[in-house]
Amino acid sequence: MKTSEKTNLATIWLSGCSGCHMSFLDQDELLIELAKKVHLVYSPIVDIKTFPENVDITLVEGAVGNDEQLNLLKQARVQTKILVSLGDCAVTGNVTALRNSWSDSNEPVLERAYMETSDVNPQIPTDIPKLLKKARPLHEIVNVDYFIPGCPPSADLINYVLTELLFGRTPHMEDKSKYG
Ligand code: SF4
Repeated sequence: MKTSEKTNLATIWLSGCSGCHMSFLDQDELLIELAKKVHLVYSPIVDIKTFPENVDITLVEGAVGNDEQLNLLKQARVQTKILVSLGDCAVTGNVTALRNSWSDSNEPVLERAYMETSDVNPQIPTDIPKLLKKARPLHEIVNVDYFIPGCPPSADLINYVLTELLFGRTPHMEDKSKYG
């Protein structure tokens, strides 16, 4: 729901390292200005479990690596006006996509992670999202409105894009070098 005159902003963390979200937080004092204009309705940095309706802008970090992420991205696309691909992983999969090569035989990985390294009550969880055969870029699955490149994108570039969108303008990334 739109709770005020503020813009409803969401951020999603898919198969990324969280570095893009760290860069978002690196906007530092600019976040104070941003907070006057936006209502953060969904994000890994706030405790909200379900993706809300009527979101104005969603930033998505990371590629789509499993079935849970696939469903979340599709839902976000339906419920968001402007969807932004945040960072290089959302396009290339990058390092975080390497685990998808284990999608057919991940038993040894699960054994190692949950059984062999656990001292207390070792067990493999039953509700682990199923890995896709390969990590997929966001734009292969849904329509993406804007791309913010970088690994991670600089805080200044993220702030530039958000500011332009908040004022109803089109961000131009041709001159992104001046944003670090
Ligand atoms: Fe991390 Fe870089 Fe991927 Fe962002 S683009 S999630 S910083 S590896």
